[in-house]
Amino acid sequence: MITRAILLLVCLLLSTSQFSPAQSAASSVKLSVHWEELTAADFREGVKRSQGVCLLPFGILEKHGPHLPLGTDLLDVRYAALHAAEQEYAVVFPQYYFGQIAEARHEPGTMAYSRSLQLALLQETTDEMARNGCKKVIIVNGHGGNDSLLPYFAQTQLDKPHDYVVYVFDERTPEKGGPAKKTKIDMHAGESETSKMMVSHPELVHPERATSESGADQARQKIPEDIYTGIWWYTRFPNHYSGEGAAATKELGEYQMKWWIDSIVKAIQEVKADDVSPKLQKEFYEKSTHPLDTQP
Ligand SMILES: [Zn+2]
Repeated sequence: MITRAILLLVCLLLSTSQFSPAQSAASSVKLSVHWEELTAADFREGVKRSQGVCLLPFGILEKHGPHLPLGTDLLDVRYAALHAAEQEYAVVFPQYYFGQIAEARHEPGTMAYSRSLQLALLQETTDEMARNGCKKVIIVNGHGGNDSLLPYFAQTQLDKPHDYVVYVFDERTPEKGGPAKKTKIDMHAGESETSKMMVSHPELVHPERATSESGADQARQKIPEDIYTGIWWYTRFPNHYSGEGAAATKELGEYQMKWWIDSIVKAIQEVKADDVSPKLQKEFYEKSTHPLDTQP
């Protein structure tokens, strides 16, 4: 009897020692940064741990020269954002690629949504993210063609009150540093972008095809640079290719990808620390309901 009682006690002790530390350490348990991989309860914990900062990596589906996949921007921005969130915890929204890409509608595989849908879908997405506790949404842009859409979207958040702030982070490539670059024109599927893909998804890069089309500037538009048209891109780069993918190297890709990830980490930290934007945005919304009372 005594032996049995001792055995029971030992079992109890063992079981408590197995489970208690895990329970008490629930807050330090490793959580996925992928929104779609979290359980509902873990999502709640994730939003708390990220202090309400969630990332919306924004890609696109478009031709990337003759040698890179259609989803290059989506694949790269997710690679960078997910690695950054692993370092500085933030919940990362699933694949999102509903942006501005009208200029590539003449190429196979391009998904170009209408402008009204782009804005409506983005608004409903950030609204829904915020309803789920993401009170600071960082849109991490991976696609150059979104560079007017996203600031415009952020500006229009002032049209009516929102209980969250939209931040846009739109840097992908360092201006200097790292291995010397060999090419001057490098805007789309060129040296930098191809190099980064060699790091994030090397199996999807076809360097041997990179010279099968020209990525040179055709310079066909004869108006001054300070006059803007939507067709400017096609007049210069009709193959939806700008630069020379063949000049890419893994070394340049590693340098640039690390810079990109580090920059996103820094952005997450800055946004977590930002208590001014939410406060002044709230004040602004309130004042905008009675502008005549605003003191000169
Ligand atoms: Zn791209």
